[in-house]
Amino acid sequence: MKPANSILSSFGTTIFETMSRLAQAHGAINLGQGFPEGLEPADVIAKAAEAVTSGPNQYPSMMGTPELRAAIAAHDRRFYGMDLNPTTQVMVTSGATEALAACLFGLIEPGDEVVLIEPLYDSYLPIIRRAGGIPRLVRVAPPAWDLPREALAAAFSERTKLIILNSPTNPAGKVWTQDELDFLAGLLQRFDAYAVCDEVYEHLVYDGRRHIPLITLPGMAERCLKIGSAGKIFSLTGWKVGWVIAAPALLNPVAKAHQYLTFTTPPNLQTAVAYGLGKDDAYYDGLTAMLAARRDLLAEGLAGAGFQVLPTGGSYFITADFSRLDFRGGDEAFCRHITEKAGVTAIPVSAFYQSKDVTSFARFCFAKTETAISEAIDRLRRFFLR
Ligand code: PMP
Ligand code: GLN
Repeated sequence: MKPANSILSSFGTTIFETMSRLAQAHGAINLGQGFPEGLEPADVIAKAAEAVTSGPNQYPSMMGTPELRAAIAAHDRRFYGMDLNPTTQVMVTSGATEALAACLFGLIEPGDEVVLIEPLYDSYLPIIRRAGGIPRLVRVAPPAWDLPREALAAAFSERTKLIILNSPTNPAGKVWTQDELDFLAGLLQRFDAYAVCDEVYEHLVYDGRRHIPLITLPGMAERCLKIGSAGKIFSLTGWKVGWVIAAPALLNPVAKAHQYLTFTTPPNLQTAVAYGLGKDDAYYDGLTAMLAARRDLLAEGLAGAGFQVLPTGGSYFITADFSRLDFRGGDEAFCRHITEKAGVTAIPVSAFYQSKDVTSFARFCFAKTETAISEAIDRLRRFFLR
């Protein structure tokens, strides 16, 4: 047999799929893979059901339905004061994953350097490498997750095409501050580089913090591509409706990639997401409040079971240090161990690093029912405090 593509073949099955399968096999409560339970808005689902029955069910415009593109522009005006032309600056994709791939395939020329901040989401590196880009990794480490400004500046050069900036971050739950974003904006200008901004957790920001899109900073409108995901905003991750917002000169090459990746996204789901984005502030505030309460419930429970819990400012993940617990081994072994023996699944944080030297942290997802979180805590307490 002739060999398949060597770059993609060198990657294993994603840690999310691996841990979800293991959770299922052991009947464990799955706080691993980031998918919500019990938060799906019934009216948005009803709208999709209606749109499937009434149609249309044919290919929509490759850029997205006009109503969804208008709704995305209105959403970004409402929350960030942006003034977008929905026809030239908004494109709908099949999830943020496709948006990321379209941005990277559309912009990277083989040999271009791409700056990445570790820990990083799992789809970034394989796509960058498949596009011929050369990753330049900058490491952010627990417990502080501080931005290493010197290392970041040193990673940029004349060869830098772009940086991927995730905020709020998965898995660290960090929300980059105005000061950190100003610093990044300065680097983009100095090195004439772009930023692909993965902002899928834009509404999951807690304790009075504010999500600031990098694209809204002075001079950044021509340098940033802002990615969103309905999967996160409406707790419907299986829908895979996402989008990219960018100046026409940046969006055009990205659309060229999109037209050969998926071309379109189911029109009925686009109708429902357009409806959902127009929901009143009570929906958005309620989502944040509900998740903040679940974060607190899980954080307190994990601390009570002996974990050292790091603060989460955004996203729906908690990172916790398990080194004080009765376990000897790395984080992957730990996550398998608690799945098999305690009946609770988490994700090893080392999966988000290339260097495997962050070894005592596990990521727990709190976008779950209160019952599931409470039962998971009981199981961990019974197991570790027996
Ligand atoms: N980026 C980050 C940081 C994520 O956590 C996720 C979650 N899956 C995605 C992108 C992908 O989002 P989507 O499901 O819309 O493809
Ligand atoms: N974003 C989700 C997470 O971090 C999972 C996405 C996936 O399974 N690919 O858990």
